[in-house]
Amino acid sequence: MGYKNLKYMSTKYVYTFGDGKAEGKADMKNLLGGKGANLAEMNLIGVPVPAGFTITTEVCTEYNKQGQEAVVEMIKASVEAGIAETEKAMNAKFDAKDGSFPLLLSVRSGARVSMPGMMNTVLNLGMNDDTVKVVAEKSGNEKFAYDSYRRFIQMYGDVVMGVEAEEGEHCPFELVLDKVKNTKNYSSDADFTVDDLKGIVEDFKSVVKAHAGKDFPTNPWDQLWGAVCAVFDSWNTERAILYRRMEQIPEEWGTAVNVQAMVYGNMGENSATGVCFSRDAATGEDIFNGEYLINAQGEDVVAGVRTPQEITIEGSQRWAARGGVSEEDRKANFPSLEEAMPEIYKELDETQQKLEDHYSDMQDMEFTIQDGKLWMLQTRNGKRTGAAMVKMAVDMLDQGMINAETAIMRQEPNKLDELLHPVFEKSAIANAVVLSKGLPASPGAATGRIVFSANDAEEWAARSEKVILVRRETSPEDLKGMYAAEGILTERGGMTSHAAVVARGMGKCCVSSAAGIIVTGKSLTINGRKFSEGDFISLNGSTGEVYEGQVATVTPSLDGDFGKIMDLAEKTSRMYVRTNADTPADAKTAREFGAKGIGLCRTEHMFFEGDRIWAMREMILADGVEGRKEALAKLLPIQREDFSGILEAMDGCGVNIRLLDPPLHEFTPNDEASQKEMAERTGIALDVIKTKVDSLHEFNPMLGHRGCRLGNTYPEISEMQARAIIEAACDLKAKGLNPKPEIMVPLIGTLKELKMQSDIIRATAELVFAEKGIRVEYMVGTMIEIPRAALTADEIAEVAEYFSFGTNDLTQMGFGYSRDDAAKFLPIYIEKGILKNDPFQVLDQEGIGQLVQMGADKGRSTRPDIKLGICGEHGGEPSSVIFCDKVGMDYVSCSPFRVPIARLAAAQAALLHK
Ligand code: PEP
Ligand code: MG
Repeated sequence: MGYKNLKYMSTKYVYTFGDGKAEGKADMKNLLGGKGANLAEMNLIGVPVPAGFTITTEVCTEYNKQGQEAVVEMIKASVEAGIAETEKAMNAKFDAKDGSFPLLLSVRSGARVSMPGMMNTVLNLGMNDDTVKVVAEKSGNEKFAYDSYRRFIQMYGDVVMGVEAEEGEHCPFELVLDKVKNTKNYSSDADFTVDDLKGIVEDFKSVVKAHAGKDFPTNPWDQLWGAVCAVFDSWNTERAILYRRMEQIPEEWGTAVNVQAMVYGNMGENSATGVCFSRDAATGEDIFNGEYLINAQGEDVVAGVRTPQEITIEGSQRWAARGGVSEEDRKANFPSLEEAMPEIYKELDETQQKLEDHYSDMQDMEFTIQDGKLWMLQTRNGKRTGAAMVKMAVDMLDQGMINAETAIMRQEPNKLDELLHPVFEKSAIANAVVLSKGLPASPGAATGRIVFSANDAEEWAARSEKVILVRRETSPEDLKGMYAAEGILTERGGMTSHAAVVARGMGKCCVSSAAGIIVTGKSLTINGRKFSEGDFISLNGSTGEVYEGQVATVTPSLDGDFGKIMDLAEKTSRMYVRTNADTPADAKTAREFGAKGIGLCRTEHMFFEGDRIWAMREMILADGVEGRKEALAKLLPIQREDFSGILEAMDGCGVNIRLLDPPLHEFTPNDEASQKEMAERTGIALDVIKTKVDSLHEFNPMLGHRGCRLGNTYPEISEMQARAIIEAACDLKAKGLNPKPEIMVPLIGTLKELKMQSDIIRATAELVFAEKGIRVEYMVGTMIEIPRAALTADEIAEVAEYFSFGTNDLTQMGFGYSRDDAAKFLPIYIEKGILKNDPFQVLDQEGIGQLVQMGADKGRSTRPDIKLGICGEHGGEPSSVIFCDKVGMDYVSCSPFRVPIARLAAAQAALLHK
């Protein structure tokens, strides 16, 4: 067997841990995955962890290249040695034939970054007809032994052997369980007797045989290899691929496999299992919180089938208050772990503090209490909402846990978006009818039409409908629907259910376990009221409330912690951030978010408001220079007023105003009705108008008569715009303000194109100064958005005082992808892996980035102090902002609501390039 390609990889495939020792450690996440690295680290700092070993991510990569057979042979000896170590540490035996306690295993995935619920897990591995008897005898708990066995067959059957429900059918294992429950009149799984469970085990084996066409494997080694390979295979399931794409996780990372001794939370009333967080993942508050279930396995908590109880008394009381549960009822039926098992709670509380202090970050932990002993199964830096991300960083900075650099680097710039997301409008919410209240699983407000499946959510959203995805409980298959929906409502599930964890990660509003709601097929009943597909409901993911109908939303105000992070970003950044804005209102919003000027004012947007379009159309349809000049004279005062407003809103900051750019046909009256209106307004005959409109038609308008080509063929347009800008600036200066106009020429490819426009602008400015008897400072610059401009940027910098990289057009022309038509094939390209990202969203640093770098370098070679910025959409995209810093730009410019994101990314860039 040829292992040619394996040469570069290390020959250590397996890292063991247990008994306070470990071969790995926390900083080996790339090799051991997040879970594996932290399991090792927990051992090293004295936290009780069941022994086991991690098969490295490199092995997964090889598995994907070489296939199963080669890789199993490659790691066989290492895995066998790992099992031997685990047997020693746990004093148990795998594949025990001599009556010693059987070593039962969990087999879990664990990539570098957490992908909650996306990949496979198998628990209770090692169970068979022989071992189950020993487990029953040694644990003194026959029911637990057979319950674990039937769970194992179900999980293994599903994950490894592919036994699952047919389309529209129920899961075949669940059918077996339901049948027993129905005949015996049981209300839950907990009612099964030992005999029931023994019968279920046999029935489950038959289910496997019938669906998979082969017997359930009884040999523990066969079971182990099946599970290990299934975890590797789960790296490439549809849902894992989709998740990676959304989270931009590279395909080549692969997952590690963690094989670990099982400990049991379902050994009786003295056992439990749970999930906890060292701080509140939703709000960021510094309070220990989490959920647990007595006599259960971990999957019961995350699957959301049973509603878990709170860990702390405080959390439990808050939960009771939300749900209207009396203190008496709470204490008797839903006690916190702090009350139910005070000693263990104390140990858990100390452990969570130890782990948070050790990692200096909020920890998301899984634990199991087996017969009165606490075991930690996992710890990782917890996922958090945008608000929690900001608050935790500020608190930890104040608490001396982290420094300012860490606080900045710990922000995910895109997550700030959530802080800027809508909440319900006060007046609207005052009159809204509350239908139900559930768990506030993921904050934010959402309103939309009800859909009941992920596919429907996607389809409706594609038709621009805002939807709320309503599910009994969510599974990872629902991911795409959650992504498409405005919010998610589930009948079941706690705060750590998949729905809650995934929604928080996405920044999507989610309410789960809402009281009195029943989801059946395509119908939702809330406290007796029926709702169908397409009906409106609204959700408040911060309070858990569900409202009738549509409730208006508003953008929230930002609190002090946000301001502190922004101040830190300000102090750290080298680049500053401008905004792309065309109105004084947008300019003001952006300034409040910290924009230091306008990086792009698209003057054409000013022509679409109110009656202005008619003057613009008159200009376009005019015959000859004189006609155009007449129409332009009407536009001049309107433009002057626009520029005055925007220069005033950004007083003292640079305002980069671009001359007219789009193809003229975008303004023309294209339908019969507006052509008629045009004829009436101007007195021009309808057929003349029609002919003129037809003559403006272009096959490739994006590459046609647009940009400086307009100004160079109709210089009077540039003249009018330059005059309007300079007049506005002079008037403001006369009023004592400090306007700083910059006039930008779009879409140049040659020096001459720019020179001609620059001459017009400068000559017009001189005329205005003479007329007004006042001068203002102004600059003339250009967009670098045609590849030829980037290639000849040294010549162009002879005239241009600044460059603004128009990466939208540069991407269009560099790739040869039409901005208007690329949406037809780009999603397929991304799906097929031809492109990693949509290059119109994330700058293609490798290719288009070279044009940017060359433009910047050549520009500086002629004019060393040339001002450089970017105004394409990439100016608000974090990875592209970091690239701009590397190129040495002075600023990036983006839409107002992305300004905080760009400011943070700029700060991170400065730290990265320090
Ligand atoms: C660009 O091309 O990047 C740009 C900002 O201009 P527009 O999107 O208006 O063409
Ligand atoms: Mg452009």
